[in-house]
Amino acid sequence: MEVVRSQKKPSSASADGVSTIPLYRSAPTLEVRLEDFERFAVDRLLVLRGISDGLARGKKPDEMEKLVSDLWKANMRHPNTSEIIDKDIISHFVLRLVYCRTEELRKWFLSMESTLFRYRFRLETSDVHRALMTELGIPYKSVTNAEFEGLKEKLSQVARSIGQQLPTSDTVYYKVPWEEVSELVGSRRVFIKKGYAYVALNQVVSFVIPHFRSHLSKALVLTNRKWTSMIREQEKDRLTPIVEALSTSYLGPDYTQDKEFGEISLKDIDQVARSSFPLCMRHLFDSLREDHHLKHGGRMQLGLFLKGVGLKLDDALAFWKAEFSQKVGAERFDKEYAYGIRHNFGKEGKRTDYTPFSCQKIILSTPGVGDHHGCPYRHFSEENLRAALGKMGVGSRELEQVVEKAKGRHYQLACTLTFEAIHGASCDSGINHPNQYFKASQNILKEKKQSTA
Ligand code: SF4
Repeated sequence: MEVVRSQKKPSSASADGVSTIPLYRSAPTLEVRLEDFERFAVDRLLVLRGISDGLARGKKPDEMEKLVSDLWKANMRHPNTSEIIDKDIISHFVLRLVYCRTEELRKWFLSMESTLFRYRFRLETSDVHRALMTELGIPYKSVTNAEFEGLKEKLSQVARSIGQQLPTSDTVYYKVPWEEVSELVGSRRVFIKKGYAYVALNQVVSFVIPHFRSHLSKALVLTNRKWTSMIREQEKDRLTPIVEALSTSYLGPDYTQDKEFGEISLKDIDQVARSSFPLCMRHLFDSLREDHHLKHGGRMQLGLFLKGVGLKLDDALAFWKAEFSQKVGAERFDKEYAYGIRHNFGKEGKRTDYTPFSCQKIILSTPGVGDHHGCPYRHFSEENLRAALGKMGVGSRELEQVVEKAKGRHYQLACTLTFEAIHGASCDSGINHPNQYFKASQNILKEKKQSTA
């Protein structure tokens, strides 16, 4: 991304009817500090991931409108209001670099950015809609007065049938080839004559979005070419590591060691596992209790999670030893396995205080034969997932929804629905981290206990 200070501001300021939504036609020529480069991208990513979650949950258009507006306000603020548009543009272009690199990433970004644009566009005024259509180079002309008068009756019938105000001579309609507005045609929300659809100004989002999408789609392919031929190598010490980490980055707290719940004691651990462990950890915990052994990936995933929920080093050593010694003997445990546990707590080797794994990391792991780590919503067969959910106490109706989401590759949403089914409470933020699941579960159980005391 070019980093030279521009004298000219991008189009902005809504008060005079000019859009506050940039069209991202060309990369900004702005100086961007490295920390802003990453921070702005993370903020926009929170918006796009929230949109992805809303869509996967099947939210209706009015719910999506509110969600997008809330996400935008929460994440895209800037202390200096005049910088908000810069932040919008910079974050978009950084994420373009991040998401141009594979077909799958491009598809996701295109879909989320188009949805974001759709709902931001809907919140703008008619003047802004006109300005954006001109800027996008959309060629459709508004219908003349004479043509409007000839069609007024038919246009009124359609407006009546969809509960909209009846058109007057001031109402603006566009004459558009009908295949350009297939979503309006499919839902019978538009009048068609001789291959043209007559689209009211408040419906133009239907043909504006495909234009926006097509422009962005081409731009992503071009960005990918530049990325592979030039930027990746040129920026290998500076931007490339940031760009490559962003698409899989976890954006929440790291849950290194839970301050709020403090220690969990060994005597309570089985009961806490049943009530508050997410399925991935519950599966590892049960496998350990059953086989008295876990392979390396499982020891890491469960060990760091337990550290995050507040199990102290001495208790962790006692816990793992009690199980492993039944299989390999106490001596071999001390020799071969105790080191790894102390290592997780930063007491050996490089002395790094390792953080528990996020869902993203666990979902992307590749467990082999005999491994128990990974995310069950992704790595279990459907049959095993159904059995595990049944064991957790998920009712049959919710179980079908969870399995459907897992099949649709919405693993974290499947986990969120499981959480909601088990706890009888909603989890609007969605599950992004096993330790977040644990914490939210403990909070709910604590509240329930207090209300019945
Ligand atoms: Fe664990 Fe996250 Fe998968 Fe839930 S979504 S089972 S918390 S990895």
